[in-house]
Amino acid sequence: METISAYGEIAEELKRQVRGYKFENRLSDAGRVVACGDGVLTVEGLPNVKNGELLYIGRDKYALAMNLEEYKIGAILLADSYELSEGDIAYSTGKIVGVPVGDALLGRVVNPLGVPLDGGKPITSKKYRSVEAPAPAIFDRANVNQPLLTGIKAIDSMIPVGKGQRELIIGDRQTGKTALAVDTIINQKGKNVVCVYVAIGQKTSSVNSVIQTLKQYGALDYTVVVCSTASESAPLQYIAPYTGTAIAEEFMYSGRDVLIVYDDLSKHAVAYRAISLLLKRPSGREAYPGDIFYIHSRLLERSARLSDKLGGGSLTALPIIETLAGDISAYIPTNVISITDGQIYLESELFRSGVRPAVNVGLSVSRVGGAAQCKAMKKVSGKVRLDLAHYREMAQFSQFGAELDDSTKSILGKGARLTEILKQNQASPVSMSHTVIALTVMMNDLFSDIPVREVNAAMDNFLDFLEANHPELAARIEETQQLSDEDEQLIKEYLAVYKGNVTRIAEDRKALQSGGPS
Ligand code: ATP
Ligand code: MG
Repeated sequence: METISAYGEIAEELKRQVRGYKFENRLSDAGRVVACGDGVLTVEGLPNVKNGELLYIGRDKYALAMNLEEYKIGAILLADSYELSEGDIAYSTGKIVGVPVGDALLGRVVNPLGVPLDGGKPITSKKYRSVEAPAPAIFDRANVNQPLLTGIKAIDSMIPVGKGQRELIIGDRQTGKTALAVDTIINQKGKNVVCVYVAIGQKTSSVNSVIQTLKQYGALDYTVVVCSTASESAPLQYIAPYTGTAIAEEFMYSGRDVLIVYDDLSKHAVAYRAISLLLKRPSGREAYPGDIFYIHSRLLERSARLSDKLGGGSLTALPIIETLAGDISAYIPTNVISITDGQIYLESELFRSGVRPAVNVGLSVSRVGGAAQCKAMKKVSGKVRLDLAHYREMAQFSQFGAELDDSTKSILGKGARLTEILKQNQASPVSMSHTVIALTVMMNDLFSDIPVREVNAAMDNFLDFLEANHPELAARIEETQQLSDEDEQLIKEYLAVYKGNVTRIAEDRKALQSGGPS
């Protein structure tokens, strides 16, 4: 009797174990490469591979499973395909692609797999993050209500960007898109914001010049550059923005403010289209695959401002999109416009006519708006957009050479001076207080006696005069983030003093010239 019961127990135990047995992916799951080329492989076998899983191919190469079919899978190769051939063995790893993250990456240039490209020492970070990660949930987020200053007067005043916002930079080729993003990175110096610049499918020379600019202005120390150039395979270009985001997320989740630039997502879409076509996925509009919207939305949704409970960090995204002949209603531009919280539209025509940065104020918008502006900026910038719109409208009429009345003339004069003051050179960020002071002067029409061409120089001189004689004014605006009525009055008084000085100096010079030896 006893023996039978013992057998019964063993049988029960065996049954229990068989029932509870879980099939796990191990490196020992192997398949065979049956086709490879253009960065795409077809592997037979591996029935348990999951979508997005990392495959290890013989000869020390990795691939990413993308297409799961009944007997074979399509994968993209995360390396050059030259060294692979049909018949190679592919193993599943049960992992997804990860990159080293953390402070060790600051000041470094890495490829989309986290391998250094700057000739420096290998990255020794012990922390890894997978390149794909879910976006923070609604309750993990806080409101976007702190400004992320770009240092560009036209943007900080009219199209404010908040920490945690996604603001698209869109425009034709050579309209200053990269310059705008790089200037924003330069402006973060000393503001405790970590920056990540992701170059996707760009010329090596362009990426190099961005890195040189960052170095020149001391901005590389707090920046990570993730670089996949045009010569790299489509799969590497495709994962570059996700890698950049994973690196940025590490800083965000440790409570820091991060700015990420994706330069640019049009090329990212093209890389994904190439992969999809090679994987023989059905193509849709403009030959892009059906999930092209999803690849960008799941990327940009990862930008957020986290709640205090999660450390209060933020990830602000500046994706860039290149348009063709100003067509913002093409497929990819409309997709990304609808995902982001606003766009900065740069126009070739403005760029050519010397308005740089070439921001088209009418078509640019920030859906976070005034919530991301400090009180001082909000106070002075309220009417700027309206005045500029008014000016543009009047300027069109005045082209017909009609007689202009005085009020039209004053609108035109004010608008022209305002446009002039919003022009800004590359890599010369302007502080919040200086933008506020400049706009206070312009909106109160205090520069109407200065010729349009000289407005910028006059403003620079006035700001220098303030820094030399009354530095407490700008300091107070920076500290309180407000422009009190008294301070506004002070600006007017100081300007009167400054103008008096200028007139006196001019008169003295004239006297000297006429009275002096000829
Ligand atoms: P691409 O389409 O090639 O990526 P892009 O739109 O990124 O071009 P940039 O490379 O940033 O444009 O700028 C194009 C040119 O315009 C560069 O030579 C740059 O130096 C110049 N530029 C950009 N912004 C300004 C500015 N504010 N003032 C003067 N020059 C500028
Ligand atoms: Mg560019």
